[in-house]
Amino acid sequence: MREGGILWFRNDLRLTDNEALCESVWQSNRIYPVYVFDERIFSGKSAFGLRKIDTPRAKFILDAVTDLRNRLRDRGSDLIIRIGKSEEEVYNIAKRLKTRNVFCNRERTYEEVLIQDALEEKLWSIGQELRYTRGKMLYYTADLPFPVTHSPDSFNAFRREVEKFTSLRPPLTIPDLPPFDNANIDKGELPALSRFEMSEVNLNADCFNGGESRGLEIVENLKNDASSVNVGQDSLYSGTQLSPWLSHGCLSPKTIYFELSGNKNFNNSSKEKHPLYYQLLWRDYHRLICKKYGNAIFCAEGIKPKDVSQSQYQADVCKSWVQGETDSSLVNAIMSELKNTGFINDLARRISASYLVHVLKQPWLYGASYYEQMLIDYDPCSNYGNWMEIAGVGAENKESKFILSSDFDSKYDRDESYRSRWLKNVRV
Ligand SMILES: Cc1cc2nc3c(=O)[nH]c(=O)nc-3n(C[C@H](O)[C@H](O)[C@H](O)COP(=O)(O)OP(=O)(O)OC[C@H]3O[C@@H](n4cnc5c(N)ncnc54)[C@H](O)[C@@H]3O)c2cc1C
Repeated sequence: MREGGILWFRNDLRLTDNEALCESVWQSNRIYPVYVFDERIFSGKSAFGLRKIDTPRAKFILDAVTDLRNRLRDRGSDLIIRIGKSEEEVYNIAKRLKTRNVFCNRERTYEEVLIQDALEEKLWSIGQELRYTRGKMLYYTADLPFPVTHSPDSFNAFRREVEKFTSLRPPLTIPDLPPFDNANIDKGELPALSRFEMSEVNLNADCFNGGESRGLEIVENLKNDASSVNVGQDSLYSGTQLSPWLSHGCLSPKTIYFELSGNKNFNNSSKEKHPLYYQLLWRDYHRLICKKYGNAIFCAEGIKPKDVSQSQYQADVCKSWVQGETDSSLVNAIMSELKNTGFINDLARRISASYLVHVLKQPWLYGASYYEQMLIDYDPCSNYGNWMEIAGVGAENKESKFILSSDFDSKYDRDESYRSRWLKNVRV
């Protein structure tokens, strides 16, 4: 018998290729989409006293939730919005509306797992179920030629096995949604940033407007101008800047790949891969490593421990890095871009991370926490995974993938254009 269901949106703020959405529609006669601004994230602090989330990402999420609500309303549905603890808010709605199931995309990292486990237990107490779906990765774990616990530690081995044996599934289309049954429930209002003690600022507004609608527009633009997909180059200007939309699930990796590769490469026999394929594969790799090693990714020793005793936390040294007051003008410019926009490209991330760990000799966990606070595209697996690799305690067990040469400032910014742009633009 099909009964009422709650569709709990988490880091999957989209309608296209959303397995939880499809499942909820197939298995329920009425659905109540819900998003909770979890106060532990929006107002919380990490071990170093840094905020878990700062204005750039909070604004992006607000935009994305607004867009999601509009897209649901365009289809006769709606979005219930709450602020509080996710497990309590979703449980209260489930109890009130006497639904049967709560559908959500399963998360795999520590804090997110605690929340979903707590909700599951609460739902059991009222005879309801938490139904998990998947959809974060380019590939489905179930389609991989190895179990997660045997996922290769080396990216190259992982890539070879996946390319050889695994086919990609095409993205799911948006199903027809049942009309929203008002059921006398308060739908809730979007919070202002001031609710979380953040101020409204104009952060690169054109570039980083959160939401599926803007994400699909960017993909369309990239499709029409293939030359703009310049990835994997040793440049401070390369990259598609799609990561914020990927991290918050405004776009799925399958949709991006399907659209940009012209729907050609959906089986493993295809020889030619779109350049974005390998970038998206890095993302899958980090997620699998995270699943395989669990909470080790959040510990100083990392996955393959080495002696980190040289890294003694010094608050003033870390502060000079954050404030862009180091001896390297390039690192200072990178930190200024990060503070002003909430985004830096891959090369910039590597340079500033390597500088903190290998030149300033500070704990990589501090850097990872600062990136967590500032990055619009923060994703626990990609962030902590890449930081571990830089610090040499990651799954690949290499000393460091990126060592800074003595003249790296001029090597990566020969004409000084990057530094002249960002060193003038420090937000106070
Ligand atoms: C220290 C450090 C911290 C990082 N933290 C994050 C993070 O919190 N969130 C995040 O999404 N990425 C993170 N990355 C990976 C990478 O830097 C960003 O994904 C990339 O810069 C985003 O820009 P883009 O969308 O233009 O990338 P593109 O080059 O256009 O690549 C397309 C997509 O592929 C994925 N991708 C590419 N490279 C990587 C990689 N090395 N690891 C994982 N995914 C990758 C991203 O989803 C990206 O959007 C980090 C890298 C480093 C070195």
